Amino acid sequence: MTRITDPAAFADQHQAAVSHLDRILDRTGMGMTLGTVEPWLSDRIDDLLKAIDNGQAETCPHLSAGGPSPCFAALWRPGRIACPACTSSLELDQDPRCSRCGTDPGEQIGLRTVQLANLAVLVIECDTCYAPH
Ligand SMILES: [Zn+2]
Ligand SMILES: [Zn+2]
Repeated sequence: MTRITDPAAFADQHQAAVSHLDRILDRTGMGMTLGTVEPWLSDRIDDLLKAIDNGQAETCPHLSAGGPSPCFAALWRPGRIACPACTSSLELDQDPRCSRCGTDPGEQIGLRTVQLANLAVLVIECDTCYAPH
């Protein structure tokens, strides 16, 4: 793949990546939040985006080649960005913790997906932190 320099082509490809991600999320039945992102969560996502900008994120090799493509990150794997084929590298820990308060969510793990354009960010919430979104 070559890097795209034409802004219009980039926008097209970006849009294609976004719809591709939509389809993946549909197929996997992962819930998606497009509405309110609470302040704590937008802070965490900002940190993630900064790490990507600074080149500190650990990006899956399939994503390094040029234009935008659907990609995934999880708050419990800071700095790791995966392509759709490599989401297994984002699998939950043996002992998952709430992404917000850090407590053990027990049996009631609330998994939430927040979509930012072509990036899906996975979040775990315990019962207490989970509120209807
Ligand atoms: Zn990959
Ligand atoms: Zn919590």
